[in-house]
Amino acid sequence: MSTKADAVIIGGGIIGVAVAFYLAREKFGEIVLVEREPLLGTCSTSKAAGGIRAQFASKVNIEMSMLSEKLFCRFKEDTGSDALFDQVGYMFLLSRDEDVAQFTKSVELQRSLGLNVDILKPEDIGLYAPHVRTDDLLMATFCKDDGLADPHEFLTGYEQAARRMGARIRFETEVTDLTVSSGKVTEVVTNKGTIPCGTVVNAAGAFAKLIGNMAGVNLKVEPIRRQCVTTGPLDFVKPDFPMIVDVASGLYSHKESKGLLLGWADKSVEPSFDISIDPDYTDNILERALDRMPQLETAEVANQWAGLYETTPDHRAIIGREPSVANLFHVVGFSGHGLMHAPAAGMVTSEILAGKEPTIDISDLSPDRFANGIVAEETNVI
Ligand SMILES: Cc1cc2nc3c(=O)[nH]c(=O)nc-3n(C[C@H](O)[C@H](O)[C@H](O)COP(=O)(O)OP(=O)(O)OC[C@H]3O[C@@H](n4cnc5c(N)ncnc54)[C@H](O)[C@@H]3O)c2cc1C
Repeated sequence: MSTKADAVIIGGGIIGVAVAFYLAREKFGEIVLVEREPLLGTCSTSKAAGGIRAQFASKVNIEMSMLSEKLFCRFKEDTGSDALFDQVGYMFLLSRDEDVAQFTKSVELQRSLGLNVDILKPEDIGLYAPHVRTDDLLMATFCKDDGLADPHEFLTGYEQAARRMGARIRFETEVTDLTVSSGKVTEVVTNKGTIPCGTVVNAAGAFAKLIGNMAGVNLKVEPIRRQCVTTGPLDFVKPDFPMIVDVASGLYSHKESKGLLLGWADKSVEPSFDISIDPDYTDNILERALDRMPQLETAEVANQWAGLYETTPDHRAIIGREPSVANLFHVVGFSGHGLMHAPAAGMVTSEILAGKEPTIDISDLSPDRFANGIVAEETNVI
């Protein structure tokens, strides 16, 4: 039996370490993060494409991103680590009337919240993305403050700063059960013994539902496989190459080393923990990329991988106290946005747990919101 921890964080991906950092900064007490793998970030975090954007369709996601982008910009000041947030911008290419209508509405909302986002005519797209075929495009939206980040750099920065402030990390420690008594988790049971606890933070990513099950909770988070491909070096990829999302085809692309990273969300994939690479999925990505960027004709595939989105029914995260288990707090279900929302998620979680008013209103992300089905949905999902 270990000594009691004021907070046990389950999961050492970007969300778990961000929570550890902000909780330690709040001087929350004894903080223990448990990770079943020998290293941090080996699940979804290491698979992330690195896109960071605030161009969402829902208020809460725009505000989560705007807060995160602010925190990414002052990451060195906050953590002492020099992780680069490369603000090359994010461009959504629109070729269908319905997308133009939807994005125009979203831009209005984004601007009303203070986001600096431009609407580009097809003839202006080439100024930022000369390699993109524009003949079928009607419009693009572009936010210069969005950009890219290396998940590993940010994870390491949070980890090191959290440890310096006294948070402890236990590797190869798998949570196998939660002991619940009188509506509270009293102990976190692991393969290396039990940890009596004050608060338990569920940051188990695509495995969050299994942690919920241990406390008798049916958490609405499903693992969905997503794949990426990178190319070898390409002459036309310059340092200011923006992140590009072709909304109609679902292709996204950004600079990676001296080539490109290409990704696509296959909406037909069923929930499972399978992360084997499906060659048909790869072919689909390459076809879409070639169609939008014909110069890729001679590109070579350098690498490819599959990872898991941790997806909720409305594509928005679940952040908040579990209604039926008083000291269980979920920070899960980021639905493809976990890297970009990690700073805000870590900050608001620690504020709520410390009894403060959160910097932004996250009531739309509450765990009990699905009681009456899906009320609102994030539609700008990649
Ligand atoms: C292909 C792909 C591209 C993506 N691109 C982007 C992007 O461009 N931008 C973006 O913002 N997001 C992106 N994402 C999403 C992002 O990667 C995730 O939202 C984010 O990494 C989630 O972080 P996490 O810490 O919640 O989960 P994880 O990184 O999966 O961490 C959860 C941790 O919990 C541990 N764990 C689970 N169960 C237990 C247990 N029982 N005991 C102990 N430990 C346990 C796991 O080992 C794991 O390390 C992408 C995801 C994929 C797959």
